[in-house]
Amino acid sequence: MAVRPVVVLPDDRLRQPSVPITTIDDSVRALYQDLVDSMYAENGLGIAALQLGDARRMFIVEPKLAGRPETDPPLAFINPEILSVSDDQQDSEEGCLSFPDIYVKVKRPMRCKVRAMGIDGALFEIEGEALLARCLLHENDHLTGKLLVDFVGPLKRTMIKKKLLKVKGAMSLDSGDDAEA
Ligand SMILES: [Zn+2]
Repeated sequence: MAVRPVVVLPDDRLRQPSVPITTIDDSVRALYQDLVDSMYAENGLGIAALQLGDARRMFIVEPKLAGRPETDPPLAFINPEILSVSDDQQDSEEGCLSFPDIYVKVKRPMRCKVRAMGIDGALFEIEGEALLARCLLHENDHLTGKLLVDFVGPLKRTMIKKKLLKVKGAMSLDSGDDAEA
């Protein structure tokens, strides 16, 4: 298992449609472990498989944010489905491991309910509020090819792409940020 480089925009792999996982086998468990290692290496709160260039439908979330003990392994969300979102919204800056040092103000529902399969193969449901809801919705967006840049206007999008092309050379020095996912 290994830390793998996070795919950074503009990279078309972030836009590919993700494919459902049918059985939890060794290769899925290996992908989970690579996601765990890569997320911790970048100090992320969550990461989606597409961010490692893998189109399988899975993301993980850091255990404390997911309401688990800090020492628990990160929570795997395999083939996740958003069951419901609240009408009330939250509006704050959001980062992403695929957009180093870029923060975008994104309006999202305050709460959401998600159903997914865990790495043990069992279905579970989780309700997230505030930052957890934001993280779940952000990671789920990755699985549909939706990215933070899709929330901004064309002018800001061009600025972000320019900035990312410039920092790409310095990527190995980037240690990520607590608010990035
Ligand atoms: Zn992200």
